Amino acid sequence: MDTVHPVEPRPQLRGLGVYAPGMPIEEVARRYGLKRIVKLASNENPYGCSHKATDAVVREMTRASLYPESLGPELVQKLAQKAGVRAEQVLIGNGSDEIIRMLSRAYVHPGDEVVMADITFPRYQTNVRIEGGRVVAVPLREGVHDLAAMKAAICDKTRMVFVCNPNNPTGTVVDKKALLEFIRAVPEHVLLVLDEAYIEYVEQEMLDSIALLQEHPNLVILRTFSKIYGLAGLRIGYGFMHPAVVQSLIQVKDAFNTSRLAQAAALASLEDDEFVENCRNQNAQERERLTKALRSFGLEVYPSEANFVMALVEEDGMDWFNALLKRGVVIRCGAQLEANPHTLRISVGTPEENDFLLTVLQEVLPDLRKETMQG
Ligand SMILES: *Cc1c(COP(=O)(O)O)cnc(C)c1O
Repeated sequence: MDTVHPVEPRPQLRGLGVYAPGMPIEEVARRYGLKRIVKLASNENPYGCSHKATDAVVREMTRASLYPESLGPELVQKLAQKAGVRAEQVLIGNGSDEIIRMLSRAYVHPGDEVVMADITFPRYQTNVRIEGGRVVAVPLREGVHDLAAMKAAICDKTRMVFVCNPNNPTGTVVDKKALLEFIRAVPEHVLLVLDEAYIEYVEQEMLDSIALLQEHPNLVILRTFSKIYGLAGLRIGYGFMHPAVVQSLIQVKDAFNTSRLAQAAALASLEDDEFVENCRNQNAQERERLTKALRSFGLEVYPSEANFVMALVEEDGMDWFNALLKRGVVIRCGAQLEANPHTLRISVGTPEENDFLLTVLQEVLPDLRKETMQG
């Protein structure tokens, strides 16, 4: 493709990469002519979504010719009621991805610093860089956010801090007490964004972050319907924050950023606690089984509280990715996540999908290791 053009984009875009999503099933099928393909690459819900959501979408289609309500007041009301906050503290977005973009758009001036972990969700740094902000990336410690070092990285120029809990791609959570101390220590002029995309999967006791909103007007909590609710394809996420922050984000958001179908599906999903509960339990069981199996292959695996696990490999993770891909299992390796190239991130599938992954892994393992030994 011709990439030279007489009109130059903003300098911030120079050298900025493009997000590399997990390879879609359709593409793998075309490429390799495989019948069975298991995608464990994008932390999607392998159990689909609630049938209540499906029914709601079908019903809502009769109104597809009408624009959606811009702020989704019914959904906002329900989310507020469930969380015990006021509706003015809730904002929905085209996935929480969009809220990350709105936050950067509304708050990051060129030259501002934004503190985040290295490695974490790549959308933070991309959006900050587009606005001309400077990313201050603080290395993880054994896969976990180093909150003490992140605190030390905050200075006069810091505008925003991201804490991804559980962290994508390592799956780890930060210590509850340490997080509370961190929230208390972050100065009020710095937005503290707590991304809880995977919170529903966590088994251990977590900090009640929502209860802290009252005392900490700089706190922003991000959640999504893309993970445990299984609505990734409809694009809808939400955030809890101070009403003034909601208002600033509304100023920069698109007019009709979430569709009718997404709003209807999300609202109906909130009426199906049983679906969520089943997904959480299944995931916890399979996550443990997968972790144990990978460790039995000699791989180091971070302790995950999410619906994916990260393993460390001696070889180039890309070799593992390719070997699995050819046999119909799609995962992500570090290089595809802007992370350590000697890592693999594997979403937790259904028991059958995980069986398939483990069988395929056993098949490709000898070859992968032989290549390493030959240098
Ligand atoms: C998946 C994910 C999101 C948001 O996904 P959306 O589909 O845009 O709601 C946000 N943060 C993290 C860390 C994620 O993994």
